[in-house]
Amino acid sequence: MMRLAALGMSHETNTFARGATGYAAFERSGILRGDEIVRAYRESHATMAGYLEAGDRHGVEIVPLVFFRTEPSGLIARDAFERIVEELLRLLRDRGPWDAVLLAQHGAAVADGYPDADGEIVSRVRALVGPKIPIGLSLDLHTNLSQRMIDGATVTVLYRTNPHVDPRPRAAECAELIVRSVRGEIRPVQALETPPVVINILQQYTGAEPMHGIMADTDAVLRRPGMLSAGVAEGYPYADVAEMGMAFLAVHDGDPAAARDAARWMARRAWDRRGEFQGHSVPVEEAITLAMEAPKAPVVLMDVGDNIGGGSPGDSTILLAAAKTLGARGFLASVYDPPAVAASIAAGVRSQVTLAVGGKTDDRHGAPVEVTGTVRTISDGRFEEPTPRHGGQRFFDAGPTVVLDTTDDHTLVLTSERMASISLEQLYSIGIRPEGRRIIVAKGVVAPRAAYEPIAAQILLVNTPGVTTADLSRFTYQRRRRPLYPFEPDAAYPV
Ligand SMILES: [Zn+2]
Repeated sequence: MMRLAALGMSHETNTFARGATGYAAFERSGILRGDEIVRAYRESHATMAGYLEAGDRHGVEIVPLVFFRTEPSGLIARDAFERIVEELLRLLRDRGPWDAVLLAQHGAAVADGYPDADGEIVSRVRALVGPKIPIGLSLDLHTNLSQRMIDGATVTVLYRTNPHVDPRPRAAECAELIVRSVRGEIRPVQALETPPVVINILQQYTGAEPMHGIMADTDAVLRRPGMLSAGVAEGYPYADVAEMGMAFLAVHDGDPAAARDAARWMARRAWDRRGEFQGHSVPVEEAITLAMEAPKAPVVLMDVGDNIGGGSPGDSTILLAAAKTLGARGFLASVYDPPAVAASIAAGVRSQVTLAVGGKTDDRHGAPVEVTGTVRTISDGRFEEPTPRHGGQRFFDAGPTVVLDTTDDHTLVLTSERMASISLEQLYSIGIRPEGRRIIVAKGVVAPRAAYEPIAAQILLVNTPGVTTADLSRFTYQRRRRPLYPFEPDAAYPV
């Protein structure tokens, strides 16, 4: 029976975030090996689930080896990266030979000494298995896609949705193309096109223009004869690397020119729309006031500057402070604050506490805010999301978690791990009905939509400062390409 290895390291690295990401961060998130991968992912909607399901569907053996992931955060420490790659390669070597390899990556990982960490992994795997063994590569839509990744992989498939609700079917598609390659039914050739353009995070929702039309172009390309796959990378702007920006990918059965033409066609059509790539967000006080006065509640405020899914600390107090100052009631927000959780647990359920919450990681996300409230709930912070939400994960762990009802009618969810706002189960599991609140803060930009859109009367993107601010002019880039639109508005393409 055909045997395929499934493994990978998935990380989105915010090179502007404070602090390195060490091996311990991956351990805390749970390094999964063998059957642990099956238990965590088989019933999920994530990439590994798509790989595993390919086993039954195509009558092949999928062997899950190891999977490393952790929440988006700062630069991966060199020793952590070397240790991770060493295990990936050792397992591939010891458990082989393989008919093919399936890699579950994110595509925007940056390690100390390895600015294209995903390209490094793919090329080392390629060197190990040799030129003939097909390698499938599944990547997030936010990959800063590199030629090195493409050169190492046989087939690369990107998510097509943001919020990411389709990692599983995309991985299944990748696995299918790899199985067909092993059987000699197809000969995939890939082409990458990288116009010098960045699309702002505010405009990355695939349910609206311009991304909706740009994704529709991939459908048009897929209707061309012999086309196996087509994708668009939105890119991840908080990584200071040469590949930062959009990328267009086409995979054709046997014809490099057809792949190249398709990738260029998509890239040129997107380039022509670059004037639509900047977007708009609402100033902080205006957003709170709009939410207080809105005819219908709840109003969901996207905390763009503290986008945990983009690598921010998760303890911004900018919106909380403004809500207090403006006297907003019915306010609901989560804040990463392990010491405040510990103090609340020490006080106990139903006791009144006065705490300075949030704003403790650095000085870019507001100062700690003093609140007085009653500890309503103490939980272990674990919850389960059965439906496809951003990223497709099923099991979550926010660490010890506390619900605090404050004297000014704010509900604060204090967590011990950073937890992106991508599942309402995070709230339901601790007894909160967000539908009944007036203002809900979601720490993210696009990702929370899959969960929050169904209950939101209105969604506002708020121009909060922070390490994931939408205002990219606040960052000092050393390694990005130049010229690059919109930093250099007169950037030209094709060159
Ligand atoms: Zn993403």
